[in-house]
Amino acid sequence: MRNNRRMRITISILLITSSVLAACAKQAQQDPADLVMMNGGIYTVDATHSWAEAAAIADGVIVAVGTNDEIKPYVGDSTKVIDLAGRMAMPGIHDSHVHPLEGGYEQVYCNLWYDYGVDAIITKLQACEKNHVGEWFEAVGLDLGSFGLRGPDKSILDGLSQDKYIFVDGSDGHAALVNDKVLELIGIDENSVQPLDGVIERREGSLEPSGTLRESSRDLVDKSRPKRKFATSLAAMRGAINLMNSHGITSAYDVWVGEHEMQVYKTLAETDELTMRIRGAIIDEGVYEKHVGDDFERVLRVRGDYESDNVNYNSIKIMVDGVFEGETGAILEPYLTTNNNGSLYREAEEFNTRVKRYYDMGMLLHFHTMGDRAVRTAMDAIEYARSNGEETLRDGRHTISHLGLVDPVDIPRFAELNIGASVTMAWAYTSEWTHGLEIPVLGIERTSQLYPIRSIQAADGVILGGSDWNYGDLDPLLSIETAITRDDPWGPVSESEYEILGAEMVSLETMIDAYTINGAWQIHAEDVSGSIEVGKRADIAIYDHNLFEIDVYEISETKVDLTIFDGRVVYRRLGLQGQ
Ligand SMILES: [Zn+2]
Repeated sequence: MRNNRRMRITISILLITSSVLAACAKQAQQDPADLVMMNGGIYTVDATHSWAEAAAIADGVIVAVGTNDEIKPYVGDSTKVIDLAGRMAMPGIHDSHVHPLEGGYEQVYCNLWYDYGVDAIITKLQACEKNHVGEWFEAVGLDLGSFGLRGPDKSILDGLSQDKYIFVDGSDGHAALVNDKVLELIGIDENSVQPLDGVIERREGSLEPSGTLRESSRDLVDKSRPKRKFATSLAAMRGAINLMNSHGITSAYDVWVGEHEMQVYKTLAETDELTMRIRGAIIDEGVYEKHVGDDFERVLRVRGDYESDNVNYNSIKIMVDGVFEGETGAILEPYLTTNNNGSLYREAEEFNTRVKRYYDMGMLLHFHTMGDRAVRTAMDAIEYARSNGEETLRDGRHTISHLGLVDPVDIPRFAELNIGASVTMAWAYTSEWTHGLEIPVLGIERTSQLYPIRSIQAADGVILGGSDWNYGDLDPLLSIETAITRDDPWGPVSESEYEILGAEMVSLETMIDAYTINGAWQIHAEDVSGSIEVGKRADIAIYDHNLFEIDVYEISETKVDLTIFDGRVVYRRLGLQGQ
């Protein structure tokens, strides 16, 4: 299975021959371009996936793509020329499922994202708390894979000041660990009954809450946490946009939008700091701390007021189920440990009615699903809306995200129902998490079928690249490498571990499509972005190596040198020599 290490695809021959195909430049004297790229590897992702040497950009639009000779006439006195010197340029990345504000808040809260193992986590928490002032101490990215099936125990917080409310969000965003002060605040104790749509974990052999809360129980804390300050969110989002640009991302589907996020984006757009295209999905009514009742209806009505050239909110995010850890993900065959099938956020009939309502408003639907029962529920709802709803809206492209388990019967329905598959490939390799939290509850057979990306592609489904940042790693190259190898992008794992998730590997070409032209398809923007073709906006990522010419295991080590959004350079790698 390690043979794919040798899967070097030499495209350089193509590079020379196909530049003729991509030529669009005229020979006559041209108006000078603002920006020109020469001496590339430009992977255009046009209909034939042709390569070009050079491209010219004027007023933010790609005006010519072709050979160096064809593009030279566009160079005038004031034209900025980027010498690619054989480096690879490709369309800017579209992240089809991301939480930018939460990602930005990683810099505000205590950040546990890179701490694994109980000791390292305790050390980091104590170091953060020492420097923290305020009533609420909050941390993010707690690795649930470092604990058992019941999740962490509040005793790991013992060394922290218990005068503070302590909220430590789990790395899956569905579970959190809190201290006694928080449990008291939200009224959870040994007498609390288990809610239907959440979990209160208890200490072994007792009814005392362990401090780990899942789904609706976790959300109770969200509702009690202090509201975010606008200035802090603005700074967090600014940081997130810069970070996304540094990974070549120029377009994103933000799947967690309320009015607060809309206000932040609007401010950044007005100050010309929103250097990417945003499709924002308004979070469905009543989920977490967001808008409910009249307020939710008002947000739906006024969403247009927050839109601008590059920002659109005609979309809704709907939670269908939870996750496998804690067994809140809805699955067709029961969990091995408890013999239950997980839970759906809403019953089918109510769910279909809600989905159809948004569908009839012409909104794009975006579903969170982990289990195969959740995937089927989402598909059934789209089918229901298409059959009973507004006929002119049948071409709408909806998205089902994560797709941990998909029943084989449902795989052809992606193409049949025009649904994009946003599979979170950053999770799709074997790790401590797989061994500790998935195999025990799903069994080896189901675990080996997780994230069935190749099967969906084989059935003509549209594959989308999505990070789920900050619940997955933001770097698209990590996801791309993992999708190709189904191996740990951070380092080697043993042969036996590798076999578990090895059945659904796809090609580099597939994954670049997923992150570029398919992303544009997802948001009905293929006339604007997703490829390097004449007439489209110039959203471009330039890498220090040609991804097709390196070992697939080196893809995640490749660096973005420059990111261009709408024709202007919005990211330049620190220390980069020349252009
Ligand atoms: Zn998400």
